[in-house]
Amino acid sequence: MKESKIWFMDARAKRFLESTAIKGRQILEHSGWLDNLSAGDIVAVKTHMGEAYNVGYLRPIIVRTLVEALKDRGCRPFVTDTTTMPYHPWISRTLAIDHLETANKNGFNHGTMDCPVVIADGWLGTDDVIVDLQGRGSYLNKQFVARAIADADAVLSVAHFKGHPAGGYGAAIKNIGVGCASKRGKMNLHGALAGDKPVIDTSLCPGKDCQWWQVCQDCCPEGAIKVLERGIEIDQESCVYCFACANLCVNMAGVKGIQRFDHLPALGRRIADSALAVTMTKDPGRMFFMNYAMDITPCCDCYGWTDTPFVNGLGILASYDPVAVDKACIDMMNKAPGLINSEAEEYGALDPGAKKLNIIKGKDIEAQVYGGVENGLGVTDYTIEEVPLDRSQATIARYYPYVRARKLKPMYARSHPLAGIDTASFGRPTEGVTTPRHPKK
Ligand code: SF4
Ligand code: SF4
Repeated sequence: MKESKIWFMDARAKRFLESTAIKGRQILEHSGWLDNLSAGDIVAVKTHMGEAYNVGYLRPIIVRTLVEALKDRGCRPFVTDTTTMPYHPWISRTLAIDHLETANKNGFNHGTMDCPVVIADGWLGTDDVIVDLQGRGSYLNKQFVARAIADADAVLSVAHFKGHPAGGYGAAIKNIGVGCASKRGKMNLHGALAGDKPVIDTSLCPGKDCQWWQVCQDCCPEGAIKVLERGIEIDQESCVYCFACANLCVNMAGVKGIQRFDHLPALGRRIADSALAVTMTKDPGRMFFMNYAMDITPCCDCYGWTDTPFVNGLGILASYDPVAVDKACIDMMNKAPGLINSEAEEYGALDPGAKKLNIIKGKDIEAQVYGGVENGLGVTDYTIEEVPLDRSQATIARYYPYVRARKLKPMYARSHPLAGIDTASFGRPTEGVTTPRHPKK
């Protein structure tokens, strides 16, 4: 049985060099993937830069540190993501201009990344190439892959492992399967081109008595919704199943007049097929998958909020195999105890060994993994190599190059912060207070 190798470093940190950002670079270098690249190679660093007011997405310094590793090898990296379908009424990443504004607000821009930030499928999301899956896809036979990613020499996937409302979970397979698909690629993988539609029960809709009716009508990019005095009309022919109305109705109106139909077994496999299409734009060894299993929340980074994590941070897992690295994250998550004050507690999934997201979501969340095995994207057997932390002085000097106190010495000699101060009158308990709250030990 073929096993894929996974490189791992855990999430705990107590000393210098144990920063998650630095560990990521150490894994990348230790894995040897950088040796597959040549000076001048254009490398797409695919990550999720977060929806507006989401706070769970990967911190910019994590991505910047990997960009620096690529630049030190002479590569030409760019940080990238793609436009969304939409997915909900207030999503801020449907056009390149909006996506870049949100990315900038969330800390991702040319200045912070030290490389271009590119929306890979262009202004509207139509800049793509069509990839023929040559019969390998379980559900898709062709897919639209964002041009900047298809044309790059290599792809470094930098994914945040967490739960996801439609995909069950999100990590490497989804980061490329959905995140590297253009807007019409997303319509394809969500089933719109196969005829999937939201489930509508017009009898539940109170029409214009719903306080959200105007948003409901406006959020449809196809103009397919007409809210009536009582009830609603939806032109199913024009609907491209973008989820905007369904997410509004369920999350904000709390009505379930329009719902996504739960099609994870098919959706997960379509995501895996789409991921396969992305890998087919590259020669073997030109893609590498890094999953950061931290801030593991039940929902994804596409929403404008972030719940508390339901398990503790696990660490960084990396592999050439997107299926194995996702499966390892899921297994590790399930082995961990759940956290109180989280959905793990709410849904009774606190025990180590409990299948956390299966219990929280009420379904088997591994359809992407099954699809990835079925279409040959990867395997679920893996071995984990724990990467030792390099704590050498040379490595310290790379990340923390200056002992800045050296600079202070001559300045202190000229003007010490405590010079001329009667220090005896400071740092003493206030007169008359017999039990200071923080007595000196
Ligand atoms: S009717 Fe269809 S296209 Fe329009 S918002 Fe709803 S899901 Fe999207
Ligand atoms: S959000 Fe739901 S309840 Fe409100 S108008 Fe739309 S379909 Fe009707």
